[in-house]
Amino acid sequence: MRAVTATAAPLGQAFSNLAGPACRRSFATSSRLDAGYGFIGLGRMGYPMAKNLRAKIPQSDTMVIHDVNPAVTESFAKEVGNVEIAKNVREVAEKTETILTVLPQPHHVQSVFHQILKPPTLITEAPNRRERLFIDCSTIDPRTSSEVANATHSSQQGKFVDAPMSGGVVGAAAGTLTFMVGAPADGIDRVREVLSLMGRRVIHLGPPTSGLKGKLANNYLLALNNIATCEAMHMGIKWGLDGQALADMINSATGKCWPSEANNPVPGVVPNAPAGKDYEGGFGTSLMLKDLGLALTACAQADVVPRLGPYAKDIYAAAEGAEDCKGRDFSVVYRYLGGKE
Ligand code: NAD
Repeated sequence: MRAVTATAAPLGQAFSNLAGPACRRSFATSSRLDAGYGFIGLGRMGYPMAKNLRAKIPQSDTMVIHDVNPAVTESFAKEVGNVEIAKNVREVAEKTETILTVLPQPHHVQSVFHQILKPPTLITEAPNRRERLFIDCSTIDPRTSSEVANATHSSQQGKFVDAPMSGGVVGAAAGTLTFMVGAPADGIDRVREVLSLMGRRVIHLGPPTSGLKGKLANNYLLALNNIATCEAMHMGIKWGLDGQALADMINSATGKCWPSEANNPVPGVVPNAPAGKDYEGGFGTSLMLKDLGLALTACAQADVVPRLGPYAKDIYAAAEGAEDCKGRDFSVVYRYLGGKE
């Protein structure tokens, strides 16, 4: 007998226009059909997310995984168990009806969905399943995501939603990620329920691509706030101010922001911040460069001319190219600027 949870009810209604009665999971009785979850891309984020998902879904639900690197799927099967390793991404989609993708770049998402959607026979191959739901948690540009969503919807092989995340590897392991979702209103309950198994907050921002737009706008602001904080701390300390006193003052005044308060770039100001650990861990400068690049691409696609972003991108690229800054948390810009440590 399975427990009936209070949050389970909307699942049966989600995308109900496309899911026939035979496909629905009945939460009103104990005869609920077992569900199938697919996971594609088990890297730094995907691996711990898939681990949380497997731990939280019922043992009788199936999970099918794939990664181009067979070492990670084998190690996942050994460590976590109760999963099937698929030979390719098409097999993942054939065998499951809720499929998550956590991939590095736009072209990876494009290529994975090209393989999943061709030939366009996924529905006929699995007539008794619920409608397929593809949740893409990769950070990519909105245009590519929109093209993939359209290809999925027009071939009638499922629903595609974007759900980029924040919280990093630590949040992925702890199951405390925040997801920013772009999805049709009639499908959000099912999306929310799945993502809640891997995160703490699911923010629905609007129709498909809205999650990515929100994520890129946020990270654009973060990119600028971080550089501005590094410069402000650097100038204040050079003028003779004490770093801790300056940070405390800023954090009770109008300059306060996440980099000044939680991720201050001056070593020792915030206990356990990457700055105090030789800028190890945290949010890598290369990831910030990637997100900033995507935000600038999305600006160009929407005829927006960002003024500060291109300067910020140059600064991060230069920091990533410097021997003593490469591969470190993005607050290392403080060191790149010559800040006193
Ligand atoms: P990663 O490079 O560690 O992992 C990506 C995984 O995808 C790898 O295991 C790779 O082998 C696999 N992969 C690549 N192409 C594939 C294909 N065609 N088929 C199947 N698997 C394939 O990347 P990550 O750090 O886990 O990031 C994943 C996504 O999450 C990115 O879009 C990133 O921007 C975003 N993100 C990352 C962080 C972070 O802190 N790492 C935070 C928020 C968002």
